[in-house]
Amino acid sequence: MTGVEPPVTRENVRAWATETAQDATTVVEIVHAGFNDDPRCGGFAFVCDRRLAIHAVDGGFRESIDPGDDPTRTAAVEDYWRTVQHRSRPLALDDVSAWHRAAIVTLEAGLSSVADLAPELRTDVTDTARADALLVRLRRLTKEPTASGALRALASTDWLLAVPGEHDRAHPCPLCGRPALGPPRYPTAVCDDCYPRSVCGEGRPVMGYNTSLGGGFEAQHADDRSVCAQVTRDGVVWVDGQECLMGEARFGGVVVSVRQDT
Ligand SMILES: [Zn+2]
Ligand SMILES: [Zn+2]
Repeated sequence: MTGVEPPVTRENVRAWATETAQDATTVVEIVHAGFNDDPRCGGFAFVCDRRLAIHAVDGGFRESIDPGDDPTRTAAVEDYWRTVQHRSRPLALDDVSAWHRAAIVTLEAGLSSVADLAPELRTDVTDTARADALLVRLRRLTKEPTASGALRALASTDWLLAVPGEHDRAHPCPLCGRPALGPPRYPTAVCDDCYPRSVCGEGRPVMGYNTSLGGGFEAQHADDRSVCAQVTRDGVVWVDGQECLMGEARFGGVVVSVRQDT
């Protein structure tokens, strides 16, 4: 299902609800003046069919089964409003840990690793591999490599505000040396820069993905989106001539590791 075309206005959300409803006569707005008039964190809620669909002006969207009565619908709108307020809250560098500040400065400076920072910029970071694990995740989440972009990403990703645990360490990518996530389970995982250069046995670029939320793995040729039967079957890919294995990561997502058994 596609979302509401921006801008998220009452008219556009109503049009979206009418278009996506199986029975357009069921479309009813759940009016909530505070939420509707909040220009930064507000939005519009509609019941359509048996769904309660809430669209936020920041592009966010939550859909649930219609609880059926107005007090519970209003409570659902207020709950989502609080969620949007929370993820839109302004976060400053002083609000995050010294580890996060070091990762953000590294990101902004375009450096590969927190270890490349001048020591005075990472004085409280006792283990740069742990800070690098944070850096890799921040890089995945941040559209622009700026402090404000990183802080916005952190505001909306609560779990990432914790200092990485002792075992949450990046390791040097076996192909290029940049920090990569993987250990302890995937000690030879390649980094996010090398991963997109994976090609199948025919030399065609391939991308892996989970076939469902619960898991399952399939690989697709990047050029025409056809399924690559070979990589889907045996996982063997090549990155810069190095034989690797692409597969489903234990906690979701896809990992490419340099093959250790050859
Ligand atoms: Zn690499
Ligand atoms: Zn192929």
